[in-house]
Amino acid sequence: MSNSLSRRDFLGAASGVAAGATLGLPLITHPGFPAVHIRQGSKNVAVASANGLRGVELTGRLVGEGMDTLDAAIEGVKTQELDPDDSSVGYGGLPNEDGVVQLDASCMHGPTKRAGAVGALEGIKTPSVVAKYVLLYTDHIMLVGEGAKRFALSYGFKEEDLMTERSRARWLAWRANRGPDDDWINVERGKEMVIRETGTININVVNSNGDISSVTTTSGLSWKIPGRVGDSPIIGAGQYTDNDIGAAGSTGRGEANIQVCGAFLTVENMRRGLSPTDAALETLRRVVATTEPRLLDEQGRPTFNLNFYATNKAGEFGAGTIWSGGRYAAFDGATAALHDIPYLYERE
Ligand code: ASP
Repeated sequence: MSNSLSRRDFLGAASGVAAGATLGLPLITHPGFPAVHIRQGSKNVAVASANGLRGVELTGRLVGEGMDTLDAAIEGVKTQELDPDDSSVGYGGLPNEDGVVQLDASCMHGPTKRAGAVGALEGIKTPSVVAKYVLLYTDHIMLVGEGAKRFALSYGFKEEDLMTERSRARWLAWRANRGPDDDWINVERGKEMVIRETGTININVVNSNGDISSVTTTSGLSWKIPGRVGDSPIIGAGQYTDNDIGAAGSTGRGEANIQVCGAFLTVENMRRGLSPTDAALETLRRVVATTEPRLLDEQGRPTFNLNFYATNKAGEFGAGTIWSGGRYAAFDGATAALHDIPYLYERE
């Protein structure tokens, strides 16, 4: 079975465009927005979270060889999903409070205007590929939990233990030191702060024809309440693609992103003419404005972090974050590198 979107879907998309043209309909209509013309792409570009350095290099190379943009982006994020040392994604991702790894992922394919997602998926190392199967083979957008697992198994995905020795040890240490009133005997952890780790990989890619895709995949917030689904599998929050404009995606506190539909908003900001970086920073200003007081410091700044990564159709790329010190990965058509992320607030 071929996983490639390229031929059948490309033909489908192309005939759709031709039909619109024959009817004399405008091909692009966006009521309520000024018409911003984003020049057609001329190079292959991929932009991602910092753990996506290997991923953008692979994605960029594969689209350069002619692979479909979504297929290539998924190959890119799989490098992290299958890496036992990336504790934020797929195999080796940190589990929920019960010690069960629950994975979220979503993707969009610009040329065919299709989307797929899975939430709280257990036992499958590559949720991004399952999300692509939802996109390819169903009339739905999102499958969750047990149903998502049964769907994956029906296509031959293998059910596996996603915990590594390292992630299990870290979960056991967290459980032991959970609180003074629980029934677990505390273990010595030195003076180290108990950090509640999060992480995710998002890749957005545009090829030299201006075709665009995006994918985000994560094990979500570590020690989360079982069943908690973050922003990553939410179309318009974890990632979003509009083949006329660009793509954007996110890592960081998912709850803050969901409240502003941040990936969608970032693409809309690019539609209004903002550069990818300015579009991301504008979305983050909205996040700050919509944050409840409980999560703000004395100066009204969020006590969490959130990042957006974006590329437009022309292959311009950028990113934005709330707090300084972060980096993002990009393939600029020739090489892959890490860049400092423009931010709203300087960390002290
Ligand atoms: N956005 C992810 C979530 O909330 C976590 C992260 O990227 O750190 O599930």
